[in-house]
Amino acid sequence: MTKSFHPPKRLLMGPGPSEVDPRVLAAMSRPTIGHLDPAFVGMMDEIKAMLQNTLRTRNALTLPVSAPGSAGMETCFVNLVEPGDRVIVCVNGVFGGRMKENIVRSGGEPIVVEDTWGKPVDPDKLEDALKANPGVRLVAFVQAETSTGVESDTRTLVEIAHRHGSLVIVDTVTALGGTPVLTDEWGIDAVYAGTQKCLSCPPGLAPVSFSEAALERIRERRHPVQSWFLDLNLVMGYWGEGAKRSYHHTAPINALYGLHEALVMLEEEGLENAWARHRRHHEALRAGLEAMRLELPVAPTERLPQLNAVAVPGDVDEAATRRMLLEHHGIEIGAGLGPLAGKVWRIGLMGQTANARNVRELLAAMEHTLALQGHRLVRGAALEAAEAYYASTGEA
Ligand SMILES: *Cc1c(COP(=O)(O)O)cnc(C)c1O
Repeated sequence: MTKSFHPPKRLLMGPGPSEVDPRVLAAMSRPTIGHLDPAFVGMMDEIKAMLQNTLRTRNALTLPVSAPGSAGMETCFVNLVEPGDRVIVCVNGVFGGRMKENIVRSGGEPIVVEDTWGKPVDPDKLEDALKANPGVRLVAFVQAETSTGVESDTRTLVEIAHRHGSLVIVDTVTALGGTPVLTDEWGIDAVYAGTQKCLSCPPGLAPVSFSEAALERIRERRHPVQSWFLDLNLVMGYWGEGAKRSYHHTAPINALYGLHEALVMLEEEGLENAWARHRRHHEALRAGLEAMRLELPVAPTERLPQLNAVAVPGDVDEAATRRMLLEHHGIEIGAGLGPLAGKVWRIGLMGQTANARNVRELLAAMEHTLALQGHRLVRGAALEAAEAYYASTGEA
């Protein structure tokens, strides 16, 4: 007989999923009700309103797609790209590469603006590409590249694209809840996120939001959206305005209870406070890592506080370090991807993971693991550096 599955106890400090608060897990274990039950529909409206607040938007078309962040990405591309469309995509990491693939699969023709992995998207290169390709009506890029730990300047990039008459799709999967995503102020036309990064939910839902200009573009389509499931015209029958909802698909009821609770928690904390919390614990972690003679290769002004790329020193084994952290300390951190494989670790401080206790636990475990491999360091210096940082801010 197969037995019930009980996961081992882990501390999730990788590129997602992040730590999930017991309140969210408790919410998800409440009784399943119908997806058209008036009580459920009322909760859907609250989720929508809280997502609008979190995304800083008044867009009516704001909802969680019933699938992970990748489906949020796909929702944006299949609805906004038509066969034959030329689309500029800025690629500075793994997820920009996936955007390119989405353009191709939607029948579009990608025009790739390449940037170095570990650097932000270069606004001048985007401007040059727009000048060289008049008539392009869509630009896409990733605000928070989880593969490198770099943040791009969404406000500037959107402003450039709009000046050339393009709409903009922005990936904020890792940004949302950890660093500002000001959808309306910046003028983002289509934005998608995920639940398992800085919103601290289990994976499986993808908040998306579309501006009026994006909706207009979708209404003008000459071809039906190639995906039935992700066609927003159809999804809106269920997630749209008013009390009358029609069946589209059976919503993941209990997952939505979890998202509701996570958004309630974020509202209680205050979004700005959450951004500041991510920044504070990132600085403490950075101080501790540097005290162990570890380097953060991303320039300080371009770093994502929620995803810390750390250069692997020459005297330790990259994979063995991660394995020891997991086996001896129960801590998960991430490996490098693509050209950064074997060269960096990725330490996440996403959502509920971003707290002083986790920073201390990681630093102590990392020190132990590195020292075991013969990395030269001063025992205790990492924790002291983190504590000194916390003391300097007057709080932990
Ligand atoms: C995690 C991530 C995704 C994909 O989300 P999934 O939930 O894994 O499908 C997309 N973009 C970025 C920047 C991410 O970090």
